[in-house]
Amino acid sequence: MAVVGDGQLARMMAEAAGPLGVRLRLLAGDPDSSAAQVIPDVQLGQHTDEAAVRAIVKDAAVLTFDHEHVPNEILLRLQSEGVPVGPPPQALVHAQDKLVMRERLSELIGDRHALADLPVWARVRTPAEVTSFGDATGWPVIVKTPRGGYDGKGVVVAGSAGDVPSEWFEKFPDGLLAEEKVDFRRELAVLVARSPSGQASAWPVVETIQVDSICDEVIAPAPGLPAELAGAATELALRIAGELGVTGVLAVEGFETADGRFLVNELAMRPHNSGHWTIEGSVTSQFEQHLRAVLDLPLGEVGAREKWTVMVNVLGGKYPDLYRSYLHVMARDPKAKVHLYGKGVRPGRKLGHVTCYGDDLDDVRARARHAADFIRGVIEE
Ligand code: ADP
Repeated sequence: MAVVGDGQLARMMAEAAGPLGVRLRLLAGDPDSSAAQVIPDVQLGQHTDEAAVRAIVKDAAVLTFDHEHVPNEILLRLQSEGVPVGPPPQALVHAQDKLVMRERLSELIGDRHALADLPVWARVRTPAEVTSFGDATGWPVIVKTPRGGYDGKGVVVAGSAGDVPSEWFEKFPDGLLAEEKVDFRRELAVLVARSPSGQASAWPVVETIQVDSICDEVIAPAPGLPAELAGAATELALRIAGELGVTGVLAVEGFETADGRFLVNELAMRPHNSGHWTIEGSVTSQFEQHLRAVLDLPLGEVGAREKWTVMVNVLGGKYPDLYRSYLHVMARDPKAKVHLYGKGVRPGRKLGHVTCYGDDLDDVRARARHAADFIRGVIEE
């Protein structure tokens, strides 16, 4: 199997590939990257270089990714030559471009649905169009670049059109995405997987907690989520996967509104941070399921193993050496599972995560938080 992208997602795919006897061939930008450290068959090159992508697909059963950034033209050409691409470029474009995604999902959802829907949105090409949108929906509004955003980059809260960086309009002449500022209770994510044959599965809906627009904590399942809302969100995610022809894992991130609805924010077509809890917390992890799905193998069972599973990300802090914390963290809590990605420490960079599980949610959260904070050096004890 060929994998483009050398980050922690490809690294964790390798963890799942071992027991399945699946060999991965990696296209990595850096020989010391997170994934290249654990996958022996590495081709060095850029994901934007067609020759480099071609070099890894030879004889591979399928081409998959740990990010969304391979240019669609390259994938379309490979696909037309018979290379199986999972997810296919026709689906992937909806995870690459927020306007393409909003347009397609608006069509798919149709008339405004009571429980699972999109935020009110519009394509805006000029500051004047931002003003008309804000006047119509109420200020402030959220304005986003359609492409290239991550972890809150490419997103502004605009109290007036003047708050939108003027270069964005020049860089994206086809328009920016404007949307209502959703009054949300919390953020949720629905993770599903779908195979080319059309088999699909859905993990329990989770709550995700962001700090400075970066995922900090994930609670599985989302505490106190009404069954009807969980059902509507899951049904929508499965419909999106089916109608867009997604193969592999699809993450649908969204908001639970104050009035009890689920509004879709973003799609990711690969294993996702909101699903790291499944490594210990589910019978089948998102990484195993992704491999099974893109290979068109029967999918695994996705029930939770424990009542609660909590994952806390380890972001770069002040200490360059994360391993100094192992003695304390492992001795204090033998049930905590630490995952470090082998990445160099930079402030704010995702370097690893900790997963804890058990029957008492407060205790599970406190243990995962303590371990993650100790590793990154936020607390000394
Ligand atoms: P990114 O591509 O950087 O992940 P997102 O679209 O997920 O961008 O936005 C980043 C964060 O900004 C979200 O996690 C959420 O907290 C906030 N946000 C995004 N869109 C809205 C919205 N329409 N209303 C309120 N908050 C929003």
